[in-house]
Amino acid sequence: MDKLSYDAVVVGGGLAGLMAAHEIASSGFKVAVISKVFPTRSHSSSAEGGIAAYIPGNSDPNDNPDYMTYDTVKGGDYLVDQDAAELLSNKSGEIVKIMESWGTLFNRQPDGRVAVRYFGGQTYPRTRFVGDKTGMALLHALFQRVSGLEIDFYNEWFALDLIKDERKVVGLVAMEMKSMNPAFFKARAVVMATGGMGMLYQHTTNAYINTGDGYAMALRAGAAIKDPEFVQFHPTALYPSDILISEAARGEGGILKNVKGERFMARYAPKKLDLAPRDIASRAIVTEIREGRGFPGGYVGLDLTHLGEEYIKERLALAYEAAMNFAGVDATKEPIPVRPAQHYYMGGIDVDITGTNRDVIGLFAAGEAACVSVHGANRLGSNSLLETLVFGRETGRTVASFLKEATESSASVDKEAEKVVDDAYSFVKSESGEHFGVILNNLRKTMWDNVGIFRDENGLKTAISDVLKLREEAKRMYVMDKSKTYNTEFFNALELRNMLDLAIVIATAALNRKESRGAHYRTDYPERDDKNWLKHTVAYLKGSTVEIDYKPVKITRFQPEARVY
Ligand SMILES: Cc1cc2nc3c(=O)[nH]c(=O)nc-3n(C[C@H](O)[C@H](O)[C@H](O)COP(=O)(O)OP(=O)(O)OC[C@H]3O[C@@H](n4cnc5c(N)ncnc54)[C@H](O)[C@@H]3O)c2cc1C
Repeated sequence: MDKLSYDAVVVGGGLAGLMAAHEIASSGFKVAVISKVFPTRSHSSSAEGGIAAYIPGNSDPNDNPDYMTYDTVKGGDYLVDQDAAELLSNKSGEIVKIMESWGTLFNRQPDGRVAVRYFGGQTYPRTRFVGDKTGMALLHALFQRVSGLEIDFYNEWFALDLIKDERKVVGLVAMEMKSMNPAFFKARAVVMATGGMGMLYQHTTNAYINTGDGYAMALRAGAAIKDPEFVQFHPTALYPSDILISEAARGEGGILKNVKGERFMARYAPKKLDLAPRDIASRAIVTEIREGRGFPGGYVGLDLTHLGEEYIKERLALAYEAAMNFAGVDATKEPIPVRPAQHYYMGGIDVDITGTNRDVIGLFAAGEAACVSVHGANRLGSNSLLETLVFGRETGRTVASFLKEATESSASVDKEAEKVVDDAYSFVKSESGEHFGVILNNLRKTMWDNVGIFRDENGLKTAISDVLKLREEAKRMYVMDKSKTYNTEFFNALELRNMLDLAIVIATAALNRKESRGAHYRTDYPERDDKNWLKHTVAYLKGSTVEIDYKPVKITRFQPEARVY
């Protein structure tokens, strides 16, 4: 097997990975970025609505970073580590200015200052944007920036697993997707910036590549996933294709209406109405549909018509185009059909505020792959792009100082590296049994039906037994393509292995948490229970067994209070 040697390897070429690599390379260390797609095709490029930032002199005069921290903590239903939320808020203006100086052309107000719009759960409007293509603009600017640094890119390479010596990272094994040639990347530090896992759910706004590989690699290496039960569902995905209709649509004044034409959010969030946080709006939509006030087929309307054609086409171009091309609806004339879909993962590789995992020495994580935890039980819209950059940078800096001290392992790991490749092949070696696509569809269905917006004990137990059964079936599954050139079926099967590892952890943690908080809603335990459950879940995977432990929530200033909007 080929052997390559770096100080650090970053897995992921999205915003978090590129920002971390930027810091590591700028400190003079040798760094590789491995990505299963060309970096600018990472899911970060699909982000639409914007990036939250308090910018002194360019925000509402009554706003300040403390309000932003408070909104984030309350939005996250008090499961947020408040030191992390403070850092996010305090660095937000600086990071947006950096991205602007690196070439992101933000929308402007008439006086030339960076424009701003409301997003859900914000006391004052803070979301900065480039039309409704903000992620694309940020990712291209950042990619251009890092292209000028000494970073080796391994694009269309698939990371398989970490290699350790005892508790310490020695590197990882990855495979070139074009040729299926494996290579061992020796490194003292590995940053997982592998993004989210939406493909675990039948309905998702995420890209096909969001299969949670990083979470599974971390679990198999012995690291914990923090708060795995917290999965975000976005209220407004286009019906029936699940393409995201950005929260910007409601931020700009869009109104949710049921089949009777009622503005039903008045019943669920009398003050914030359509700009209630996502968990509340998603439950409201599903309740309307279940109680017979949805449109036939199961959706509600998102009405933009009163905003006027010119405004819609300038500020919400993507929403307009998606509605027209994928639902045949002209959003300037009639409401867009929407329903909730999986959107974001609050859970993630357990790291502290510096991006460091404490189970595996040399393992770091940033972006959606990580749980810092800055979003708690429910992320506020436009806080994720901000998190990728703020904590991508923090993590990169942490890695740079770690590398100054960290010694190289002298252990020979050739056998371990070979085993990783053998395991990957043995996962797809069967000639008969179940096709991997069938297992994948069954997994996505049971997660949607039983570990979705509304959960209860029976459903969660069904999900666990389904996933355990699917994990057994997967041992005897097959793929049809046996070639060695761009065998995407082979890599899809490996993604399924990762999804199965994560699914069992999510379902088990959801069954374990006997309360409702943020996006985790248990119909059999509908109340938040701070006495017993104001704590983080940390979950480990040992074979097919999920071991659960807890960590305290860091509370600095904001004591839990009732969460009403
Ligand atoms: C449709 C949509 C719209 C959104 N809009 C907004 C918004 O307006 N505002 C906001 O704040 N947030 C938004 N979000 C959320 C936000 O975009 C993401 O959380 C964020 O961009 C994630 O960035 P990341 O760098 O962590 O991961 P990603 O950008 O997803 O990158 C992950 C990287 O990991 C690589 N990778 C994964 N597995 C492997 C593997 N096995 N081997 C090699 N490489 C691998 C991929 O190739 C990719 O480069 C949106 C999300 C979606 C889906």
